[in-house]
Parts: sequence; structure tokens; C-alpha cells
Amino acid sequence: MLFDISKANIEELHDDLFTEKQVSISVLRLDKIHPLVSGNKLFKLHYFIEEAVNTNHPTGSGGKTILTFGGAYSNHLAATAYACKLLQLKSIGIVRGEKPVQLSHTLQQCLQDGMQLEFISRQEYTQKDDPAFIHKLKATYGECMIIPEGGYHPLGAKGAALIMDLVKDNSYTHICTATGTATTVAGILMAAKPEQRVVSFPVLKGITDNKINIKQLTGEEVELKNLMILNNYHFGGYAKKTDQLIQFMNQCWLQHQLPLDFVYTAKMLFGTFDAVKNDTFTKGSKILCLHTGGLQGNKSLPLNTLLF
Ligand SMILES: *Cc1c(COP(=O)(O)O)cnc(C)c1O
Repeated sequence: MLFDISKANIEELHDDLFTEKQVSISVLRLDKIHPLVSGNKLFKLHYFIEEAVNTNHPTGSGGKTILTFGGAYSNHLAATAYACKLLQLKSIGIVRGEKPVQLSHTLQQCLQDGMQLEFISRQEYTQKDDPAFIHKLKATYGECMIIPEGGYHPLGAKGAALIMDLVKDNSYTHICTATGTATTVAGILMAAKPEQRVVSFPVLKGITDNKINIKQLTGEEVELKNLMILNNYHFGGYAKKTDQLIQFMNQCWLQHQLPLDFVYTAKMLFGTFDAVKNDTFTKGSKILCLHTGGLQGNKSLPLNTLLF
């Protein structure tokens, strides 16, 4: 890996419920890699950044410029800015929507990490994957490496597969992860053992094409029969939350000293606990939940919402 991932570790959670149901639940703490940058995002960026670093820029100024896309609260933009700063690459973020008077914490962080921000209308943003639009971007900003929004690309999935290198113990029966673009879950499926089940918790409402996306990202390489999608834990949709979710986050902090983010990891862990309660996991299951990070997103919550 290009990034220092030595702080990531695996912690087992303890609760009477798990004892009663005879399951174990552990968490891979990718959030410990960096306090603000999402762990899984750095993995998804790995192969892109590696290629950019190894491509000499014609002006001799080091690696290629990276250009990518995201909204005002995008963990992907924050991670890209940070990764490019570390590796001394120039980064450009194309942001969805007109420039607001007050920039979000996420975008302020991007600026601090040296990212050049360019705001485009929501209408224009819908063309972000359109070859003609990409051509226009390259004409405007110069030759650069374009990373699709959220790292949604086979290279992103290949990078996410590296997460499983951190899991030395092969005896986990289930790997649980929160799903947005499905790039991370695609990578985990590629790296998981044939007998392991990969459990995806979509954080968007009404997502039905995840399997198609995973096929696109991985080719024919993965066994979709090992994938379990638990679709009932989006809490109303992307970045939506309820009091129950916030209470759950505070409870996890008090009981397990586990900080969660409300967009992704809280929904995944709530879903995992609920699935234990309703016996979705059979006795003897050894469950590993990926804490993919995203804690910077909590800064958008009103003060004193969380105990951490
Ligand atoms: C982006 C993100 C995810 C989802 O990853 P995808 O590869 O888009 O499915 C999960 N957790 C966190 C914290 C994220 O930032």
C-alpha cells in the first residue's frame, strides 16, 4: 500500500446478545488509518494513485494531476485530496452544485489539502461520465488522470480487495460492509474465501442494480452466490438519519468505544446487530464488520448530537 495502514486493527465487540445467539462480532478498524479520511477510500484510490505517481508529467513536475468528482460532503473528495497531498500530486475536485457562501467542512478540508475545487451545476454534473464532457475537462484543466466519482471503476474494486490483506484470520464466516457505489463490496468479494459470505448494507434507498454494478466492476471473477444484500437499513436514504440511528451510535460509543459515521458505518452495524437479533446469522457465525471510516461526515451534524 502507498499509505500507512499500520494503525488498522481488529477488535471484538462484546454483548449479551452475541453470547445468547452464539455468534461473534469483530470490527476491522479502517477508521484508525486516519481520523478524517475514510479507510476504504484510500484503498480504492491505491492503483489510480500508483499509476499517477509512476507517470512522469511532460513538464517534469512529478506525477500526473488527478481529477475527480463529488458532492459537498464527499468522503471520496476528501480522501483524494489527502492522498494527493501525501504523494505530492496536484488534485482537482469537480464539485456538484453552485459554490455555496459557506463551504462544508469536507470542502474546507479539501482546500487545506491543496485540492483545486471547481463547482459545476447539478445539470452539468450529470454528464460526469460522458466521454465528450471528459474531453472538455481535459481541454480545460490539462492532461490529467480522471477517477470516476466514488472510485467506481475496476481499478477501485481491485484496490478495495487489498483491505482483505489486513485480515490474517481466515475463519470469519461473514464480512459485512456498507455499500454506496458497490466498489468496496466488489473488491471484498474478489478477495474473500469461497466459503465466506459477504454481506452488503446499501445506504441508498431502492437500490436494485448492485449485482449488475459488481459484475461490471469485477468481470466474471466473482461468485455472486456468496453475496448477501440486506436492503432494509438505509434509514430513509442516503445521508438520512433517524433518532434511533443516532441513539444507536451513542450506545456503540458508550458500550464499545466505537465511533461510527451516520452515513455508512452506523447503518451497517445497526443492520448487523439487527440481523443477529432476527437469526439471519446462524449459530457459530464469526462476523467481521468493516469500519470503513467516514467520520468526517459527522461534522455536518448539529453540535452535541453525538457523545464523541
Ligand atoms: C464511500 C464509503 C462507503 C461505500 O463504499 P462504496 O465503495 O462506494 O460502496 C462505505 N463506508 C464509508 C465510510 C464510505 O466513505
